[in-house]
Amino acid sequence: MAKPKLALYWAASCGGCDVAVLDTNEKILDIANLVDIVFWPIAVDFKYHHVRAMEDKSIDLCLFNGAVRSTEQAEIARLLRDKSKVMVAFGACACFGGIPALANFTNRDGIFQRAYIEAPSNANADGTFPQTLTKVPEGELELPELFDTVLTLAQVVDVEYFVPGCPPPVDLILKVVDLFASGQLPPVGSVIASDKTLCDECKRVKEEKKITRLYRPHEIIPDPEKCLLEQGIICCGPVTRGGCGLRCIEANMPCRGCFGPPPGVVDQGAKLVSAIASIYQGDSEEEIARMVDEVLDPAGTFYRFGLADSMLKRKRL
Ligand code: SF4
Ligand code: SF4
Ligand code: SF4
Repeated sequence: MAKPKLALYWAASCGGCDVAVLDTNEKILDIANLVDIVFWPIAVDFKYHHVRAMEDKSIDLCLFNGAVRSTEQAEIARLLRDKSKVMVAFGACACFGGIPALANFTNRDGIFQRAYIEAPSNANADGTFPQTLTKVPEGELELPELFDTVLTLAQVVDVEYFVPGCPPPVDLILKVVDLFASGQLPPVGSVIASDKTLCDECKRVKEEKKITRLYRPHEIIPDPEKCLLEQGIICCGPVTRGGCGLRCIEANMPCRGCFGPPPGVVDQGAKLVSAIASIYQGDSEEEIARMVDEVLDPAGTFYRFGLADSMLKRKRL
């Protein structure tokens, strides 16, 4: 019997999600035994024209990592959607925009200005910016166009499943493959992770303590037995879906929110602001203002992974 066909793709991605698939170590051989990999730019030499030549819906499962921020990435997302029966937003960037979507606090012009003019390492006296079309003696060179706004995969094409994490942990990847191979995938639209919050899974002692100041992780050695948030370290556990195996918490580091919001939470950042406000003990406006000042990068702290998928989506410029 023919094996199911698997495609993997990276769009606006750091490559970590692909490396996470390779991190399945010897299990990658089990995956290769279970499925026929028909497209995987990081590992297998298939080209876009090979995918275009495939029949529609001939790929059984597509794991798409990375956000969508260029015409090329949007085109390949639509191509893979047409060719795939099941499309999975794989990793925080594909699910919520992830780190690349922090670019939504500026726009294409702002990014080009910084990257090609202002960055101290630039040697660009003519102020040249990338062009989508450049004439050279041999003909025209074409580059994809960068969007003003970074998008999640589901903002571009229909998506059947969401696998969060930056990157998704190996056991979750193997679970997805098992669910797929056994024909036991959950209802369409499911997030394949826990339905609880990370705090529900965390074994640290919670004492319902109020906090009077915030610390950045390098400013304090936290008690490894006690809740980090109650020690004044911003931990996204209350507003983050569980299922990662408490990766950061077990390393005595706060959760940064890479599994996205749990069920019922529309805007992870806004909910985190509210969670912190609820445990802050401040008696005066000055104390509250001081605490707000202690969050040095509020946008990056509250929307590190979820800006593109938040109510805010991007800065109004
Ligand atoms: S989710 Fe994390 S590991 Fe995956 S592509 Fe985005 S930044 Fe990289
Ligand atoms: S806030 Fe963080 S440290 Fe505290 S219980 Fe939740 S996940 Fe654990
Ligand atoms: S603890 Fe939070 S940031 Fe760390 S892996 Fe888990 S969900 Fe992601």
